[in-house]
Amino acid sequence: MRETLSQGLPALGLGTDAVPALEAFSALLLERNQVMNLTAITEPRDVAALHLLDSLALVSLAGLERQSVVDVGTGAGFPGVPLAIAVPGLHVTLLDSLGKRVDFLQESCGALGLGNVRCVHGRAEEFALKHREGFDVAVSRAVAALPVLCELCLPMVKVGGRFLAMKSSHTEEEISQAKEGISLLGGRITAVKDYGIPTTDVTHRLIVVEKLSPTPRKYPRRFAQIKKQPLGT
Ligand code: SAM
Repeated sequence: MRETLSQGLPALGLGTDAVPALEAFSALLLERNQVMNLTAITEPRDVAALHLLDSLALVSLAGLERQSVVDVGTGAGFPGVPLAIAVPGLHVTLLDSLGKRVDFLQESCGALGLGNVRCVHGRAEEFALKHREGFDVAVSRAVAALPVLCELCLPMVKVGGRFLAMKSSHTEEEISQAKEGISLLGGRITAVKDYGIPTTDVTHRLIVVEKLSPTPRKYPRRFAQIKKQPLGT
């Protein structure tokens, strides 16, 4: 793990100061993973690359200094926890609908002394109603298809802010299906960036959606409706 992080962080333009805290978080994750389902990735080297370095690729791709970030469907804390560790000026809200995962995050962030993290147990479509246009950035990795995800995430983003969707590189169809809905929600896709995860041959994709105007108050709809008829499809 240490070797992967020590090679990978500089490749992402980051220093290695965060290595001990990233290792400590991974140890907590793998320990708790023995008794609850947090991740299917269990080799420390793979956790370092496919969870930690993948999450931290956002720093140089998106420039996140001093922003308020909500990580929607954070699961075991990706990408939000590595970002909070490596970019201390960020204010990160970790949001997930599974209470046990949020309990794990609460305990781990407490143990790591991460003062820039808030853990919230809740559903994105409900949280968005109370925190409309409340964040500079919403980010989400591996939660839902883009047309669904945009309706969950864009309402939380301030005008002038961004929604960052972390995806696999085979997402052309999702992107074209999401475009009309994104426009209804007040956004526009301004960049699609493929990136390699250092120390692997894996390529992932970041889709950047900028918020141009306020999201109409009728969005987000109830989850059953969002799922049944994703916007613009
Ligand atoms: N983002 C993490 C990652 O990349 O490892 C976790 C991905 S996991 C496959 C999807 C997570 O999204 C689950 O923890 C699930 O509970 C959460 N989730 C799904 N729908 C959600 C919703 N509507 N609101 C909040 N969390 C949600």
